[in-house]
Amino acid sequence: MTAPTSTTRELDGVRAVVTGGASGIGAAIVTAMLARGAAVTSLDRTPDGVPDGARAEVADVTDDAAVRAAVESAAAAMGGIDVVVNNAGIGAQGTVADNDDAEWLRVLDVNVLGTVRVTRAALPHLRASDRAAVVNTCSIAAWTGLPSRALYSASKGAVQALTLAMAADHVREGIRVNCVNPGTVDTPWVGRLLDAADDPVAERAALEARQPTGRLVSPEAVAHAVCYLASPLAEATTGAALAVDGGMHTLRVRPP
Ligand code: NAD
Repeated sequence: MTAPTSTTRELDGVRAVVTGGASGIGAAIVTAMLARGAAVTSLDRTPDGVPDGARAEVADVTDDAAVRAAVESAAAAMGGIDVVVNNAGIGAQGTVADNDDAEWLRVLDVNVLGTVRVTRAALPHLRASDRAAVVNTCSIAAWTGLPSRALYSASKGAVQALTLAMAADHVREGIRVNCVNPGTVDTPWVGRLLDAADDPVAERAALEARQPTGRLVSPEAVAHAVCYLASPLAEATTGAALAVDGGMHTLRVRPP
């Protein structure tokens, strides 16, 4: 099925920084924002894969100095920053017995502190904007006890709590902060997990059968939700978490 596209321009004039804009959900967000009229800078550790029409800043979100430089460069090039999408993230498998301290710190450094660093660097620009919004890519892992995802779930639980705390701290400054909580999204990330399985085709079929809709979530579906939360249309929405999971978190639908 071809993913539906927007025909509206609700992000006209909006200047956005999207982390992890070179792949998967982030690249779909960049494309969807450009289509709605935004100027977009991807902040990613690679420029390869950033959709045409967007600027690319190369920085690792674990490097505070590099993040600050990239955010300032983006603000200078775009004339300011109205929207930050904290989407860069990495996965981790295992129970608490499986990951050592170094692995915990590595993942939290990207998923949690990366969100903090980029938002902190962009705050002066967001404060100067009259339509400021932050959208964090969280996960249903923040809500659901997924087996063998202790570290990843804890990192996304922290992003969820951080979303609420930041929403409260900055609401009187006119900065809205929300998150999207995707289910299983058809991105290179999931592709890598499937490739590692003994039978990738059977594994994909099993994964699809577990979805209430019978199919994986498209990156575009997540991107449309992010665009809504980033746009002035969501002027009264802050501190919210929007599930984009095909019903996975809330529905109990038996596989056929
Ligand atoms: P992906 O691997 O396809 O893309 C991730 C992007 O983030 C890549 O471009 C990568 O270069 C960038 N990145 C990773 N670490 C970085 C760092 N330290 N500094 C800068 N950039 C970095 O993954 P995706 O599936 O598109 O996931 C994007 C986000 O969505 C992540 O936060 C992930 O936790 C979340 N998410 C994904 C799924 C899913 O099923 N794919 C589900 C729920 C949530």
